[in-house]
Amino acid sequence: MQWKLAARAEKMNPSVIREILKVTERPGIISLAGGLPSPKTFPIAEFAEACANVLHKDGQAALQYAASEGYGPLREAVSQMLPWKVDPAQVLITTGSQQGLDLIAKVLLDPGSRVLVETPTYLGALQAFSPMEPEPVSVASDDEGVSVEDMVAKSKDARFIYLLPNFQNPTGRTMTEERRAAVSAAAAKAGLPIIEDNPYGELWFDEAPPLPLTARNPEGCVYLGSFSKVLAPGLRLGFLVAPKAIFPKLLQAKQAADLHTPSFNQRMVSEVMKEGFLNKHVPTIRALYKRQRDVMLAALTREMNGLQVQFNKPNGGMFLWLRLPPGVDAVALLPKAVERGVAFVPGLPFYAGEGDPRTLRLSFVTASDQEIDTAIAALADAIREQLAH
Ligand code: PMP
Repeated sequence: MQWKLAARAEKMNPSVIREILKVTERPGIISLAGGLPSPKTFPIAEFAEACANVLHKDGQAALQYAASEGYGPLREAVSQMLPWKVDPAQVLITTGSQQGLDLIAKVLLDPGSRVLVETPTYLGALQAFSPMEPEPVSVASDDEGVSVEDMVAKSKDARFIYLLPNFQNPTGRTMTEERRAAVSAAAAKAGLPIIEDNPYGELWFDEAPPLPLTARNPEGCVYLGSFSKVLAPGLRLGFLVAPKAIFPKLLQAKQAADLHTPSFNQRMVSEVMKEGFLNKHVPTIRALYKRQRDVMLAALTREMNGLQVQFNKPNGGMFLWLRLPPGVDAVALLPKAVERGVAFVPGLPFYAGEGDPRTLRLSFVTASDQEIDTAIAALADAIREQLAH
């Protein structure tokens, strides 16, 4: 059978990350490539208890179809969790925040629509937007976040700017308070909506990050949140908070996409979160990830000595961003690193525009201390080999 594909399907490429993850499933490879939370943090016993409670107390509703908006008590709990006044009626429970990105693309993008993104940005967002065939426009960014001047200069006719202010995927950087204030004011003045994606915000190490952009101007922003990094990603549970002007459209798109997020999962999470569970649980994730970051920073400082490798010190989240010495390309380095038993994600796929081929992303949360030491030493060897060529 000759299947005639839609033009948009012709354009879809297999995710570079997925292809790399396949390689890293081979035994003996230490993967610093994945975007997976540490499975040690999954509260399995609490879920077992919540599961039994939900089935016992509310089994029929938990196994039935439900409203597209989401489970009322969970929408209420989400509105209570957020650090600005949120009406639960503006909360839409999504099947992961990845679905939030998909719904936003469906509701806000036409073919050729300009979408502003950070340099670099979350690859999964570029993938979620791409079926609507927009034109992603890369906005200059530095260690403090996106450039206000460049954002304003490129804002004409843009449908929105997509921003990740906290412990960004892929770089781990955080937008400063001053930059947030300036971005928020300039976007409002330019009439540029903001899509704020914040799956890592709770995973801070020493101090909580500044207030979200949405808290400063809720009418001009859609906020995306997730339970993937504070509970477990397999639940596929996220949420968005949208102003009245577009909430009904997002709800219709949600209805068409999958009717609703699994009723059972929503009730389980609502049950697990009772009595402030996250207030006890999230600090244990922060402590673990902070320690892991420090192990990786120590290994990098030790092993990359003299190699002209630059790396940052993220204040939260799961990722660290590394820049290789002049002349060393991360895509070319990857097979050499895999031969030595370590995998990472090259930076290039995270750029909407021209990327920096010397960059790469490392996750510090899933490997053990010993594995991190071994992997960073192997990476340094691979870099040395590339430099010798
Ligand atoms: N946004 C960002 C920035 C992410 O890193 C991820 C997960 N990799 C997501 C959204 C999607 O998360 P989920 O669908 O699991 O909520």
